[in-house]
Amino acid sequence: INRIKVANPVVDLDGDEMTRIIWKKIKDQLITPYLDIDIKYYDLGMENRDKTDDKVTIEAAEAIKKYGVGIKCATITPDDARVKEFNLKKKWKSPNGTIRNILNGTVFREPIFIENVPRFIPSWKKPIIIARHAYGDQYKSTDFEVDGPGKYEIVFTPKDGAGSKRMTVHDFDGPGVGLGMFNTKSSITAFAHACFRMALDRKMPLYLGTKSTVISTYDAYWDKIFLQLYESEYKAEFEKLGIWYEHRLVDDMVAQLVKMEGNLILALGNMLGDIVSDLVAQGGGSLALMSSVLVAKGDKPGEFIYESEAAHGTVTRHFRQHQKGLATSTNPIASIFAWTRGLTHRAELDKNPELVKFCENLEKACVESVKSGIMTKDLAMSIHGTTKVDESTYVTTDKYIDEVAQLLKKYQSSA
Ligand code: NAD
Repeated sequence: INRIKVANPVVDLDGDEMTRIIWKKIKDQLITPYLDIDIKYYDLGMENRDKTDDKVTIEAAEAIKKYGVGIKCATITPDDARVKEFNLKKKWKSPNGTIRNILNGTVFREPIFIENVPRFIPSWKKPIIIARHAYGDQYKSTDFEVDGPGKYEIVFTPKDGAGSKRMTVHDFDGPGVGLGMFNTKSSITAFAHACFRMALDRKMPLYLGTKSTVISTYDAYWDKIFLQLYESEYKAEFEKLGIWYEHRLVDDMVAQLVKMEGNLILALGNMLGDIVSDLVAQGGGSLALMSSVLVAKGDKPGEFIYESEAAHGTVTRHFRQHQKGLATSTNPIASIFAWTRGLTHRAELDKNPELVKFCENLEKACVESVKSGIMTKDLAMSIHGTTKVDESTYVTTDKYIDEVAQLLKKYQSSA
């Protein structure tokens, strides 16, 4: 098999525990045999983050900015127990948080649907992607308890002093609570760009869900910014692809979501995005079937940066088994999809149709294996019930990856 030439590099962010073991197998068996690619490797494993005073995380984020594509393995976010376990210099911050702050992007979460794996909502068949605007609102609000009767007011004082605003929120005649929150035009605008970009890349319609009928200035602000950008920058491209952007009331939208087949990207504010992405996370039937992409604006106009990863963690429980020399049945699908989704973006930036096809084949190999009955234990439990799985219903991680490799080889050689 001729290896596919990939013109530009991708950044590989290695991680921890069971996912680190799987990560290497994925690269050795499914990626490097097929691609002639320059992989810029950053070791974000716990030991190396500690050794480099976490500088490796910052360097990796800068490299993603430079090359446009990052593909990340799950990493440990240290707590007190981990500080002890690894004898860390300090309780380093979550690498995901550090990278997100540097790239300043939007996270899109998408369950991977497989026909024979039962779904929380059986009608879901086509992709459903949730975009959460993870900035401001309730998560950066100021809230307080009211002890007794009194007036709660909001005051805004402009920097130049002119035209200050003062509004009464509520006249309390007894105890209660209050909350003040905000968002910014620049953050909402960046969110909107990322959503429009994702819709174009995936050729899927985009919906924005807000409660603008009730919160008629605050929520309507998102609608205003999205619509203005759509009309001025994106509408023509959307129409060419036969897709669209629409604003919907979020209650209608959620009611529709549970009845529909899928095929949509749903953009939501911070609180609603948190809730609905957890709801949809149940969608794939396993935590190990949830993929996640961070999309941020690049330095060049119109260019976007992607960082893709599995939504799950390092699967510590399985790693403890692995350390004892036992084989595990850990699901590598979301980690494999981190590679395919990142490489697909590389292919789009480089205009490399062969690489797009390779990614499609690799995703197909993951799905077809499960459909043919060869799968890891988590999926066998979804299908047969937690108490009804025995060793005839699932395979080890190694066996599953071997099967995916076999299928991929077949698809690639018939291409
Ligand atoms: P986890 O996602 O590793 O595991 C949660 C549960 O889901 C466990 O029962 C696990 O067995 C199961 N599970 C998850 N992925 C699976 C897979 N691929 N195959 C089979 N079963 C799977 O989360 P956790 O146990 O809360 O955390 C473990 C470590 O991961 C922690 O140190 C945490 O900091 C880290 N973490 C990292 C990320 C990330 O890098 N994005 C996200 C979450 C947690």
